[in-house]
Amino acid sequence: MKVPKAGAVAAVIALAVTASGCGGDDPKEPIGIGIKFDQPGIGMREPDGTFTGFDVDVATYIAKELGYKPSEIEFKQVFSSDRELLIQYNEVQFVAASYSISDKRKEKVDFAGPYFIAHQDLMVRADDNSITKAEDLNSKKLCSVTGSTSAENVKKNLAPKASLLELGSYSECVVALQAREADAMTTDNSILAGYAARKEYAGKFKLIGLNLSNENYGIGIKKGNADLQRKINSALTKMVSDGSWDAAVKKNFGPANYKNEPAPQVTSGN
Ligand code: GLU
Repeated sequence: MKVPKAGAVAAVIALAVTASGCGGDDPKEPIGIGIKFDQPGIGMREPDGTFTGFDVDVATYIAKELGYKPSEIEFKQVFSSDRELLIQYNEVQFVAASYSISDKRKEKVDFAGPYFIAHQDLMVRADDNSITKAEDLNSKKLCSVTGSTSAENVKKNLAPKASLLELGSYSECVVALQAREADAMTTDNSILAGYAARKEYAGKFKLIGLNLSNENYGIGIKKGNADLQRKINSALTKMVSDGSWDAAVKKNFGPANYKNEPAPQVTSGN
């Protein structure tokens, strides 16, 4: 067996010490949080690189309760279709991304919350009066997002005969709706209201105002992490009781004139 030289051994040890960050005053690892990057009022990456939206405020509040300053948060983009996967593979500590609690998703992840209730609705071009109820969609082109409860609900219940254009994100559906590649788009009213209120879309779209489902937003976490679930649940309860929840609702949904439901009771993701 070859005996390594003393110098080489010292170098290896030095490297190991640096890599493990034994210096003591290194900043701690950031907390990875999954949010949407393109949903105004919910989760939005602004052109200057900052993040805005109700989910961003909820996530930041939870992170604070877990001991992380805003500068110690790393927001990562999630899509409706990859939220379970990113949680399962530890890419994020938790997901706050208009993420409805559902039995199907609970086979793969756990939820804390709920922290918000939205309802599925339809958005159409402002000059279109041909769609007033879900069944009208059966002869129309409808856009929704892969992996969302909204798309599932259309296929199974609302309008199984609609020609469904499934895209990767809601902002892509807005583009399709404007370009007349779709006659309507469907998802939570909280999300639709945010797009309709954007300056660049002023007067272009309208919400029909249907309550097609109850969407209970939860914080997605790794399955079996009861300690994190308990901590997030108490953070959410505190956010409501100290008035921060109301303030975040006003700040983020006020501009869209969105009439939200009151804060739901936290029931540990059930
Ligand atoms: N809340 C629904 C869901 O979790 C629709 C919104 C979304 O896709 O993020 O699927």
